[in-house]
Amino acid sequence: MSATAELRERFRSALMPTYGTPPVAIARGDGCRVTDVDGNHYLDLIAGIAVSALGHAHPALVRAVRDQVAAVAHTSNLFVHEPGVELAERLIRLVRDPGAGVTGAAPDTDVRVFFGNSGSEANEAALKLVRLAAGPSRDYVVSTESGFHGRTSGALAVTGKPAIRDKFGPFTTDVRFVPYGDPAALRAAVDDSCAAVFVEPTQGEAGVVQPPSGYLHAVREVCDNSGAAFVLDEVQSGVGRTGHWFAHQADGGAVPDILTLAKGLGGGLPIGACLGFGDYATAFAKGDHGTTFGGNPVAASAALAVLDTIESEGLLANAAETGALLAERVAAVDDPLLAGIHGTGLWRGIRLTRPVAADVQEHAAAHGFLVNAVTPDTLRIAPPLTISAEEILEFTEALPSILAESRPQEEGTAP
Ligand SMILES: *Cc1c(COP(=O)(O)O)cnc(C)c1O
Repeated sequence: MSATAELRERFRSALMPTYGTPPVAIARGDGCRVTDVDGNHYLDLIAGIAVSALGHAHPALVRAVRDQVAAVAHTSNLFVHEPGVELAERLIRLVRDPGAGVTGAAPDTDVRVFFGNSGSEANEAALKLVRLAAGPSRDYVVSTESGFHGRTSGALAVTGKPAIRDKFGPFTTDVRFVPYGDPAALRAAVDDSCAAVFVEPTQGEAGVVQPPSGYLHAVREVCDNSGAAFVLDEVQSGVGRTGHWFAHQADGGAVPDILTLAKGLGGGLPIGACLGFGDYATAFAKGDHGTTFGGNPVAASAALAVLDTIESEGLLANAAETGALLAERVAAVDDPLLAGIHGTGLWRGIRLTRPVAADVQEHAAAHGFLVNAVTPDTLRIAPPLTISAEEILEFTEALPSILAESRPQEEGTAP
């Protein structure tokens, strides 16, 4: 029995079956490569779902975490600590002044940060913030079909995926869903008793689905006209994934009222953030919200190392360039299974003509590439922001064989 088979067997017996039993058991990583418990090597093109922004075992991350855990690992929110304050200040600076001629929030906008431990918690904070700021007369929230905001009860309530949501209803928040990317539907759904609009800049879990250009500006306008809060979920898109610090900073930057972050922020350490702008910066008063671990010194130090390294290694430009190379090379592959590639930066969906993404994922792993079958017909590619052009080409050169092996039987034998 292989070490992988043995570990999977133990997983099956000990863990709740929420994830099925994952096929690959990772033992260690270095840069964009990981090694499984049987010693097989893989190029990691999913980075723990857009989380391992610096790849694996990046010296800056290792140093930051090691030094901080040796100094003080945890304080609770009964005490102030430098990494948490510093991280909040850095995030505020980045939403106001992203640099490189990119427009951020107005320099005098009040921005404040609340730290949690995950994307769900960042969105839970956003929901409570909205509830307080909006008052009782605004009694519903609008969100988008196929959108994803997390698995805790509040975050799940605004998640537009019936398959994962419906079993757990009814929810305490009245949530109305509109088609994603459709400003007219949004306008029709939002009136002056709407508390908030929850939206992703691109729907990651739906298959890296992009809205028409100008959509976030349309959301901003609908919220300005109705007084609803614009809550932008950048849990997956934020912190460099798109080649910008934050996805909303592309295209002239529609600035939200509340911005949520998590995945890539800690580079693998659990941390989430909810940023409030303007009145939403100070809507929470003492005692209104809290969490024991949120933004603890180790997670905050890891996040500071991520932000520092994105800057010092030019990873925004790297995400834009290697992402464009990936798109160009995938688009050049001629295969009956390949419908196209979409997305921005290092956040891409490879669309297939048949619902065989799970097979392609399996064949890719056999070739030494970790990709994610995010929907039945879409592969999600979200590698570390540190990936090199050579590593991208390794994958695109293997892709024709991977696709050929994944072709449904009758087509594989057709002339
Ligand atoms: C992953 C994700 C979440 C949930 O984050 P967790 O850390 O899993 O709770 C929320 N919103 C978006 C857009 C996500 O991609």
